[in-house]
Amino acid sequence: DGTVRERGADASESARGTEPLLRIEDVHKSYGDEEVLRGIDLEIDRGDVEVLVGPSGSGKSTLLRCLNRLTEVDSGHIYLGETEVTAPDTDPNAVRQQIGMVFQDINLFAHLTARKNVTLGLRKVRGLSAAEARQRADSELDRVGLADQADSYPAQLSGGQKQRVGIARALAMDPEVMLFDEPTSALDPELSNEVLEVMQGLVAEGMTMVVVTHEMRFARGGASEITFLADGEIVERGPPETLFENPEHERTKQFFESIR
Ligand code: ADP
Ligand code: MG
Repeated sequence: DGTVRERGADASESARGTEPLLRIEDVHKSYGDEEVLRGIDLEIDRGDVEVLVGPSGSGKSTLLRCLNRLTEVDSGHIYLGETEVTAPDTDPNAVRQQIGMVFQDINLFAHLTARKNVTLGLRKVRGLSAAEARQRADSELDRVGLADQADSYPAQLSGGQKQRVGIARALAMDPEVMLFDEPTSALDPELSNEVLEVMQGLVAEGMTMVVVTHEMRFARGGASEITFLADGEIVERGPPETLFENPEHERTKQFFESIR
C-alpha cells in the first residue's frame, strides 16, 4: 500500500499532526452468510469524539471490536497512527493497551476490590510494582470520582460506580483511544448520568473516543462527528447539528425520530 510507505518516509507529515489518529479502510466482516460490515471507511482525528449510532444489529459492536482486535476483520485495514492494528504480526495485547474499551456489560472481577480490578492489568501487562500500581490505580479511581470506593467489592457498588471502575481500569493503561460500547444502556437514568459525566470529562481532556450510544444529549454535547450505520454500511456522517437537524438521508431522519 503506497500511501502507508509514503507516510512512513515523511516523518514531518505526522509531526504536523495532520494525519488522522485512527484510519479504517474498507473493512469487511461476515458471520457465516451474513455480511455484518460491508466496507467501512472512517478516519478519526486525535482528540475527536466519534459517536456511532444505528439500529440494533447494524454492526456497531462488531466495528468497535475490530478496532482493538477482539474480532478479526475478513478484509480491509485499520491503522492507529503508523501502526497497522490489523496486521497479522501486530500483537493484539499491545493494541488493547493503546485502544481501551468499556463494554455495556460491566465485567469486573467480583472477588477483587475496585482498586485490585484496576491494578491487575498494571501489574500483569505493564509490569508495575505493587506500590506503583496502587498509586496509579488510586489516581485513576480519583479521576472517575471513586477515590473513596477503592476498597469496595463490585457487589458493594452501584451499576454506575462499577462502570466507572471499568473506565478507570481502561484509562490506567494510558490509552491513545477509548472505545465505549453502550456504556450506559444497562443503567438506570440517574446512574447513567454519573457515567456520562465522566465521559464528558474525558472529552474535555481531549481524549480520542469512539462511542456507541443512544444518549443523544451526550452525542449533541460531546461528539465531533456522528456516524449513522445501517446494515453494515455508513449511511451518513457529519457534525451533530447536521445529523440531528438536517440529515441528508431519509433513513437517518427516521432513525433519529425513532429514538427521540
Ligand atoms: P450492533 O452492535 O449494531 O447491535 P453487532 O455488531 O452486535 O450489531 O451485530 C451485527 C450482526 O452480527 C448481528 O446480526 C449479530 O447477530 C451478528 N453477530 C455479532 N457477533 C456475532 C458472532 N460472534 N457470531 C455470529 N454473529 C454475530
Ligand atoms: Mg452492539
